[in-house]
Amino acid sequence: MSWRSTGHTNSELINNLSRNGLLTSRALAAAMLATDRAHFCPHAPYADAPQRIGYDATISAPHMHVYALEALLPYITGERRGKVGEKEGRGVRVLDVGCGSGYLLAVIGHLLPPGGKVIGIEHIPQLTSLATSNLRRSPATAAMLSDGRIQAVTADGRQGYAPEAPYDAIHVGAAADGWGVVDTLVNQLGRGGRLFIPVCDGDGGEGEGGGTAGQWVWEVDKDEEGKVTKKKSHGVMYVPLTDRKEFS
Ligand code: SAH
Repeated sequence: MSWRSTGHTNSELINNLSRNGLLTSRALAAAMLATDRAHFCPHAPYADAPQRIGYDATISAPHMHVYALEALLPYITGERRGKVGEKEGRGVRVLDVGCGSGYLLAVIGHLLPPGGKVIGIEHIPQLTSLATSNLRRSPATAAMLSDGRIQAVTADGRQGYAPEAPYDAIHVGAAADGWGVVDTLVNQLGRGGRLFIPVCDGDGGEGEGGGTAGQWVWEVDKDEEGKVTKKKSHGVMYVPLTDRKEFS
């Protein structure tokens, strides 16, 4: 499935993702058209495949970005919050743990309603700088960095980012090795919010794009009463959430 959507240009890639039934939301397609993947991906930017970005990190494949963003979309746009009619007066808050190239910060920046904010956490300082300089390559996202709509922070993402909690949506772009990280992040999730996190739970069952590594995406929802529900979704293969290595 992953290679079928490859294109020669950003718009061809996005049209192929739509035609293949992976990308169903118009709002998401528009945000991805406004974000040139070449600004974030030095090699083969329009291939539907993950690519290395240095420092042991990768930019995820476009269909994985789509899958994660579609799972979180109404939480990012505020549509879902409108329905529950809660937390008025506070802007939508989104957290992207392991923001790597910064690609998702750009797409989320385009999807947020006015007053919204997305915070990216990356533990390798060189990658925080890379994400920031990638985002400066487009005037639209450069403006979002200047006005605080997008912020990139160097920290251990396993701790979340308490100063901007509670979050409407939390995306984790690297696999947790157990449930401790999930618990920490769920504590920073607002009522009515959703966490998207790959977890390595040792279940080596079958799954698209992996599963053999024992990694599965979990969608964890917190309802209006604060009740938490965990749903196991696809088998995947992400790089792990780790301690920070030093790179010179
Ligand atoms: N969504 C990003 C994925 C980057 S790969 C993209 O598509 O570009 C996963 C990222 O998680 C890497 O950049 C890695 O440095 C980062 N990471 C790994 N462990 C981390 C930790 N403990 N805290 C913060 N970031 C971490």
